[in-house]
Amino acid sequence: MNTPTSSSPSTPDAVPAPSVAALPLPRIAVLATGGTIAGAAPDATNTSGYQAGVLGVGHLLDAVPALSGVAQVQAEQIASVDSKDMAMPLWTTLAQRINVLQADPSIDGIVVTHGTDTLEETAYLLHLTVKGAKPVVLTAAMRPASALSADGPLNLLNAVTVAASAASRGQGVLVAFNNRIHCARDVVKTSTYAVDAFQSPEVGALGWVQDGRVEFQRSPLRAHTDATGFVIGASWPSVEVVVSYAGASRVAVDALVAAGVRGIVVAGTGNGSIHATIQQALVDAVSQGVAVVRASRVGSGHVMRNGAASDDALGFVSAGSLNPYKARVLLMLALAAGGTGPVALQKAFDTY
Ligand code: ASP
Repeated sequence: MNTPTSSSPSTPDAVPAPSVAALPLPRIAVLATGGTIAGAAPDATNTSGYQAGVLGVGHLLDAVPALSGVAQVQAEQIASVDSKDMAMPLWTTLAQRINVLQADPSIDGIVVTHGTDTLEETAYLLHLTVKGAKPVVLTAAMRPASALSADGPLNLLNAVTVAASAASRGQGVLVAFNNRIHCARDVVKTSTYAVDAFQSPEVGALGWVQDGRVEFQRSPLRAHTDATGFVIGASWPSVEVVVSYAGASRVAVDALVAAGVRGIVVAGTGNGSIHATIQQALVDAVSQGVAVVRASRVGSGHVMRNGAASDDALGFVSAGSLNPYKARVLLMLALAAGGTGPVALQKAFDTY
């Protein structure tokens, strides 16, 4: 009697198993920029006295053998910086390289390894300036690669898994961190030490990634990537951030105006309220042609236009739900794109 597993030629009714060609794995470019994920300390219990960005991208990939089951990975070392030192020329380099990869038919998705300190700013900048629907996923780590229970390897595996997923196409720039998938616009760093260091206040994560499974629960509604008019360039209008607090003076605002800044974002108290002294300095700045955007130092919630200050009367713009540092990114891009005056700038903040 023939068994289903028999392959003998003397069994004429045996049906050869169809040969199923394995689908090629997605091709993912990993662009490394430095950060704690590439950091090393003198010993494994040291998670704060380490040097960020000292390990090359090859070291990061070698630590995750499971990557070979998820994607065909190619790696590039774009930079090796502690992201506290992130600078606009590097943003230009990174965004331009991603746009080249977006147009490269041999690449299906892009992962960027980054430091956690300014990850939310880089992610939002890319969200507004990358052109193309291929997934772009940022990841990072809170513990250096040398640490016990380093979080970088799993974060990297998860980021590549998200970038390799068809579900991630067209979702804008994503951040994969500690099993969650966040929208670049929403995500912020909320802990100085915890491995669960990123949250999307008010709105929550877009979804999650675990054990190779990627699941989205929602999609970003605000315009991003191809739907923005922003193009990455080499020109970065000077925009700075000032903070309002008890007993604040107008020294910082006056110095910035004297230095010729094009814009000031104020990290106000509460609903973007501003100490009267700084507010008068900002009104004077507006009269000199400086764009002023009201955000909040609180960390979650939004700033209502004409809420804690009369934006219409004072010539200010409300940052809405963007934190001060993301508001600075948008203000720089809007000014570089030729936006002037509170009406046009408010439209940008209401759109992106
Ligand atoms: N200072 C580091 C950086 O941002 C912190 C980190 O990556 O966690 O590069």
